[in-house]
Amino acid sequence: MKLLIACDMEGISGVVSWDQVDPSKPEYQRFRHIITVDVNAAVAGACAAGAKEVVIADGHWNSSNVLLDELDSRAHLNTGTPTRLSMVQGVDSGVDAAIFLGYHARAGSLHAVLDHTWSSVRVANLWLNGRITGEFGLNGAICGELGIPVIMVSGDQTVCAEAREWAPGVAAAQVKTAAGRYAAHCLPFEVSRKLIEDTAREAVSSFMAKKHPAPIKMETPVTVTIEFFHSHMADQASLLPGASRLDGRRIEFKAGTMVEAYLGFRAAVNMVSA
Ligand SMILES: [Zn+2]
Repeated sequence: MKLLIACDMEGISGVVSWDQVDPSKPEYQRFRHIITVDVNAAVAGACAAGAKEVVIADGHWNSSNVLLDELDSRAHLNTGTPTRLSMVQGVDSGVDAAIFLGYHARAGSLHAVLDHTWSSVRVANLWLNGRITGEFGLNGAICGELGIPVIMVSGDQTVCAEAREWAPGVAAAQVKTAAGRYAAHCLPFEVSRKLIEDTAREAVSSFMAKKHPAPIKMETPVTVTIEFFHSHMADQASLLPGASRLDGRRIEFKAGTMVEAYLGFRAAVNMVSA
């Protein structure tokens, strides 16, 4: 069994502020150790349940957060940016199942640590085929197009609920209870680490027993609708070939596959200036 652990940073144990996940801030260095501890806990649980190969997709910021020299030696690391599949880089390498670790709720969520959708300064909302979508649904649908289920999530209570909407039956390690965007009640570090390990072990065991959430299937062609925070961003993104302008802040385009939808969404977000 080959497992992808796609990790983000906002839902990692103890994280409640941008300073803790921003490489230009001193606090960030401490949280690079903590994300690596959370990842190692998931690797340990997955391997205990029989995972034979583990690939980590480091998906936050510039994808260079996890410390290779502290990473469990059973895991391989996809790091650096940009890559074609970004937050799920490596999912097309014969992976059987995916774990989304350290995830956060979509933009505009109530009681959600660092809620956003891809860019906290550019993207107000994203819809795929008319369904409002955050990073769990977006990345989960890439896995789903390849027939790969997302079997576990970790983060706050709100991303865990969002994950259950997309993938009923997904195992959830809730490491904190968000009181707001920049506040949470956090589990003790050692409890959090063990919760992630136990949840990963159970999720992989269930997968082995053929009990797991269905892969997230998006009908094709995929209609991608992006609402930006400001109209100048939609002015810029509407230059994307095939894009149409819906109103002041929204553009829309169709993509033949979910991967094309992902590439088009990221291109649109990357081409706009904050
Ligand atoms: Zn992130």
